[in-house]
Amino acid sequence: MSATSNVEPPAPAEPRTDRYERGRINVGSSVPFFIFHLIPLLAIFTGVSWTAVMLFVITFWGRMFFITGGYHRYFSHRAYKTSRAFQFVLAFGGGMSVQKGALWWAGSHRLHHRFSDQPQDPHTPKKGFWWSHMGWILCDETSPTPTHAIKDFNAYPELRFLNRYDWIPWVTLALFCLAVGGWSGLVIGFFLSTVLLWHSTFLINSLAHVFGSRRYETTDTSRNNLWLALLTMGEGWHNNHHHAAWIARQGLTPGEIDMTWYILLLLEKVGVIWDVKRPRNTNVKVDASAGV
Ligand SMILES: [Zn+2]
Ligand SMILES: [Zn+2]
Repeated sequence: MSATSNVEPPAPAEPRTDRYERGRINVGSSVPFFIFHLIPLLAIFTGVSWTAVMLFVITFWGRMFFITGGYHRYFSHRAYKTSRAFQFVLAFGGGMSVQKGALWWAGSHRLHHRFSDQPQDPHTPKKGFWWSHMGWILCDETSPTPTHAIKDFNAYPELRFLNRYDWIPWVTLALFCLAVGGWSGLVIGFFLSTVLLWHSTFLINSLAHVFGSRRYETTDTSRNNLWLALLTMGEGWHNNHHHAAWIARQGLTPGEIDMTWYILLLLEKVGVIWDVKRPRNTNVKVDASAGV
């Protein structure tokens, strides 16, 4: 026996994700986030044209799909497969939402599932409603892409490029709105739509862990909420989702409206996506009444 055998082994390295618990909002670097919220007020001067309203509807719901069907169900959970070209389309479309790149978004989200409601969860609801809603986004600790959680997609150079230059997709969309709808198109069709899209997305991290019903006894506080599901194209069935995060469908009964799922079914039908993970081929246990 060696002389050092009684020496206590060094404590395991602190998990990198513990930094989230210590996160503090960086007021300086959060200024652009708050300026975005004020820009829609310029509509007082630009007016609200019908073209701007049309742009608003298209950019809100179109980008909502890219976030739910792309950033969330594809990049975060690999709930279906697709071509490399359509994968790029999903990453670019999600990037138009001003929610950083797919690698950052999906990597952070995977940590939310892996450590849900624990200190290593980037937006644990235990740090309070506003922290889980948007505080976590505004601190330095959550800013780097957690590449260790997204090694699979990090292997694609085009995704790394979009993740690094994450302003390219949304600046492209802003210029498009300006070209099509003038200043009113930019203010309403891009900025107002972006701010409302942000908070609709954020509500899944905050309200969907506070308000609603629980079908499954998951280890976190996730809940199902019809109104959130309507607003976010199906993401409001958050308790269903935490129960079986790897399936593409979140509304599990015919009454649980899940617009993202219907669009994914359509994309599967035309051959754009395939190997779509469903409850029946992944052994997820749902209520007998679920009819899935
Ligand atoms: Zn959650
Ligand atoms: Zn998820």
